[in-house]
Amino acid sequence: MRRVRDVVDVPARLLLLGGGHAHLSLLQRLRSEAPKGWQVTLVSPHPRQIYSGMLPGWVAGHYALADCAISLAGLCERAGIAFAQTAATALDLEHNEVPCADGERRRFDLVSIDTGPEPALFALPGATEHALPVRPIEGFIAGWPGIVRRWNERGDPFEVAVVGSGAAAVELAFAIRFRARREDAAGVRVSLVGRDAEPLVGTAGSVGRRVLRLLQARGMHWRGDSTAAQILPGSIRFERGAALPFDACLVATGAAAPHWPRAAGLATDDAGFIRVDRTLRSVSHPQVFAAGDVAAYADARPKSGVFAVRAGAALAGNILAACNGAALTEWRPQRRSLYLVSTGDCRAIASWGEWSASGRWVWTWKDWIDRRFVQRYRD
Ligand SMILES: Cc1cc2nc3c(=O)[nH]c(=O)nc-3n(C[C@H](O)[C@H](O)[C@H](O)COP(=O)(O)OP(=O)(O)OC[C@H]3O[C@@H](n4cnc5c(N)ncnc54)[C@H](O)[C@@H]3O)c2cc1C
Repeated sequence: MRRVRDVVDVPARLLLLGGGHAHLSLLQRLRSEAPKGWQVTLVSPHPRQIYSGMLPGWVAGHYALADCAISLAGLCERAGIAFAQTAATALDLEHNEVPCADGERRRFDLVSIDTGPEPALFALPGATEHALPVRPIEGFIAGWPGIVRRWNERGDPFEVAVVGSGAAAVELAFAIRFRARREDAAGVRVSLVGRDAEPLVGTAGSVGRRVLRLLQARGMHWRGDSTAAQILPGSIRFERGAALPFDACLVATGAAAPHWPRAAGLATDDAGFIRVDRTLRSVSHPQVFAAGDVAAYADARPKSGVFAVRAGAALAGNILAACNGAALTEWRPQRRSLYLVSTGDCRAIASWGEWSASGRWVWTWKDWIDRRFVQRYRD
């Protein structure tokens, strides 16, 4: 394969957008394998990346925020690459430039995109005004302590509604209930709201039923078959059925694509996620790579941190190969992945295909995996 730029006295520019799960491997490898003749810049709105797998543990009170944080600025410094604290707002593929929120247009010869998903809030009016969306995660982190303060000031009863029925929503609902009990806020009641008959639809095996039993055993309320249509001040309006009043509402309703990749003319899937081939290169623009939730892989897989991390290793190899003019390698993601869903009380549910199990040992296992992941990116 030809080098993107053969002129060696002018450094070629590699621009990394987003310090998500997939880019962490690349940032790590750049420490020891910086491509010669390339100037590398990471663009990220925050100097740290909060590891989402540990976020419910922070809500429950098991972790300090520092336990869940990976310093992107620190990784860049150690790799000797530039860090620009801003966000990409568009992509100009004619001039190979990225307009950013700080007003700069950053030029590139190669760009790699790992900016994660946007919260899927477009179909839920009122979500940003009257509820706390779980993404962007930094916004959630800023807003969550206010909810705890309110339930402590208000006293009994205090209704918390969590909209969403995927792993993030389930974990957060259990974490909130645990946190409330830990703080002797016995009047905090937690409802989980989903559009399907049971939570975690799409996860094989009996995990959804396990979660339902656990919700019931803990006196939590599952409102299934309910599509939220609007968040009003103090209540959720549904497409059908009675409204659900709340004192605090969290929204964790899945992943949507950012608007700018499609607007730039990149090939995307119907939902707007960047279509990449098995080398994680854009199918329409060879100067663009993408991985993580923002990408639509050739072998479709669920949007999850697990697959973002796995794609990250492949992406790192291929970005370095592209910079060095070497051949790219195809990535074939595994079919199944292990899911570990925490249930607030230092217990968790594990699922692998049809198999599932739960208990304290699953939490110990998850805690070990998560801490080790974050530790890998520390000095
Ligand atoms: C509470 C919670 C718990 C979860 N638990 C699990 C779990 O246990 N297992 C699992 O597999 N998945 C889990 N997930 C899903 C997981 O978080 C995502 O699938 C994963 O984060 C996707 O990784 P990513 O690399 O695509 O992007 P992300 O990890 O989301 O990172 C994207 C980065 O890009 C930055 N960025 C965003 N926009 C821009 C821009 N315009 N310009 C520059 N930078 C930008 C962001 O600030 C962020 O740092 C959980 C999600 C949540 C919310």
